[in-house]
Amino acid sequence: MKVILAKSAGFCFGVDRAVNKAMDAAKAYGSPIYTYGELIHNRTVVEELENMGVFVTDDIDSVSEGTIIIRSHGVGKDVFEKISEKGLTLVDATCPKVKSVQNKVEKYHNMGYNIVIVGDCTHPEVIGVNGWCENSASIIDDPVKAKMYTSEKPVCIVAQTTIIKDMFDEVSSEILKNYPDSIVFNTICLATRDRQSEAEELAKVCDAMIVIGGKNSSNTKKLADLCSIHTDRVYLIESADDINKEVFCDDDTVGITAGASTPSQVISEVLGLWTTQ
Ligand code: SF4
Repeated sequence: MKVILAKSAGFCFGVDRAVNKAMDAAKAYGSPIYTYGELIHNRTVVEELENMGVFVTDDIDSVSEGTIIIRSHGVGKDVFEKISEKGLTLVDATCPKVKSVQNKVEKYHNMGYNIVIVGDCTHPEVIGVNGWCENSASIIDDPVKAKMYTSEKPVCIVAQTTIIKDMFDEVSSEILKNYPDSIVFNTICLATRDRQSEAEELAKVCDAMIVIGGKNSSNTKKLADLCSIHTDRVYLIESADDINKEVFCDDDTVGITAGASTPSQVISEVLGLWTTQ
């Protein structure tokens, strides 16, 4: 049986960097160490960090000493100020791509622009980015609302890094109709799109696809759905224990991909089912 692993399977650069920073912090600093919110939505990784002495907090006010790790989604400026005021040690694992959006928002806000974030107002990254313009941004994810947008100042538009490009284009073009001098930054990160298109390309040339990821992970389910367009043999699993090797034939070509919260160790264990025999 031939097994092909998608190059983009698993953690994106920003999540990988955040997990490594948290593990390094566990070795470098004494307890208590906290991540501000769950570092990633993967129980195994969160438990592994807990075993290393890194716990989750959702409330910095309740932390009086130790180290705070900011996850890849980033946070608002006020959180950094609070960490500094409290004398806590800061480990900033904000993804550099998110940091770049925050920097643009802060710069243009200080220059007197009104900020528009094309994104989901409940997403932690968007809440964090808004915190770099004193929470004054208009957060829009609907072209109809974009049509009604008004501003008395010049406008600067940025995107949530994971927003769909069509949505970004539609919202920005509606605003540009009324405010043609708006500054537009397409700050979409291509990591998610690249993972999806690679999974699809792989599914086209494979007899079956194994998609590894959490049952509740929407990006993992999306990968499985895309693979299903090209093969009806898609196996969505959480770990190597979920694989029934009987369903594969010796002459099968099997593709493997994994969602953004799937650790490389889990991917290796699945690959190991075939490479270690
Ligand atoms: S911006 Fe891109 S690389 Fe960074 S955490 Fe988000 S998806 Fe990953």
